[in-house]
Amino acid sequence: MPELTGDLDTILEWADEFRTLGVRANADNPEDAALSRSFGAQGIGLCRTEHMFLGDRKQIIQTFILNEDEAVREKAVNDLFEAQTGDFYGMFKAMDGLPVIVRLLDPPLHEFLESPRALDVEIARMEATGADAAAVAEKRELMEKIDSFAEQNPMLGMRGCRLGIVYPILPVMQVRAIATAMAKLKKEGFDPKPEVMIPLVSVKAELEKLRGVAEKTIAEVEAEQGVTLEIPIGTMIELPRAAVTADDIAKHADFFSFGTNDLTQTTFGFSRDDVEGEFVPQYLAQHILPYNPFATIDRGVAKLVAMGVKLGHEGNPDLMCGVCGEHGGDPDSIHIFQECGVNYVSCSPYRVPIARLAAAQAALENK
Ligand code: PEP
Ligand code: MG
Repeated sequence: MPELTGDLDTILEWADEFRTLGVRANADNPEDAALSRSFGAQGIGLCRTEHMFLGDRKQIIQTFILNEDEAVREKAVNDLFEAQTGDFYGMFKAMDGLPVIVRLLDPPLHEFLESPRALDVEIARMEATGADAAAVAEKRELMEKIDSFAEQNPMLGMRGCRLGIVYPILPVMQVRAIATAMAKLKKEGFDPKPEVMIPLVSVKAELEKLRGVAEKTIAEVEAEQGVTLEIPIGTMIELPRAAVTADDIAKHADFFSFGTNDLTQTTFGFSRDDVEGEFVPQYLAQHILPYNPFATIDRGVAKLVAMGVKLGHEGNPDLMCGVCGEHGGDPDSIHIFQECGVNYVSCSPYRVPIARLAAAQAALENK
């Protein structure tokens, strides 16, 4: 594993004496978590659990969503619970003694479902090669079912907390896995510090509802395992409505994490998925800004962050605030976040050293 050595390590240790912003990492597997820890990360600011649902597990989610048979659904959720408990056990162990913010599933739904277009092509191929009529009919039924979930703008559709509100069994499964992994580690003498984060909240009712689900689940695991589990529950602030009503939302949150990727997308109305495309980057560069607002935080978006922090503290004076969008590892943005009053930034593991340095510079400039 790469490590910080020699002069760089010494310089970063000096920097740490000055900075007031914490630096955490975004990681979703134990290897990346351990790597970020070796680079000086003070915790995991964002564990994107949807990254744990690739391969076979994607199929399990598809089965869960498309199948209305309760027994099939229950089996799918049990399979996921087993897998997730193992995932979280590894993450918390790698970060023993440091906070790990686990974000509940936040995929656009289409990422879990097979592509109707690909299924259509497959059906045509099956028909052309004289496949069994029953098999073709089954594929067609699957395609039509998936089609009925299609959204014009999946990034603005059934994502984040919306998925958990429609299918509460999913957050129950994830929170149960978090609490079970924590209980197991505590019994083994470790000091796990998980936190639960609810994504894409726009109104306080969403957080209130899912917080209730999470608290009930944690209490059940505490009773089953005979241990006390203190697990803070917070939310992403990544929609403008959440930022401007942060006082209300904070009444139900132990922490906020600003998702500046989505916040930039929804504030400007530019698709973050088209930043590498033709129109968005050219238009931005030629007509709007001398920088890419998806890489360096825009002052307008930062105003929403500052407003969210200020209002958030009105709703909950003990609120912890961080930034976990890509901007959390960008030095220019870190200077701006220092002014916004957040407590920490969280970035990809390899950006942790530069973030430590930038945070020290920002603190010295603000003296
Ligand atoms: C964000 O929106 O800034 C964020 C961190 O979440 P994601 O990139 O996973 O949408
Ligand atoms: Mg987001």
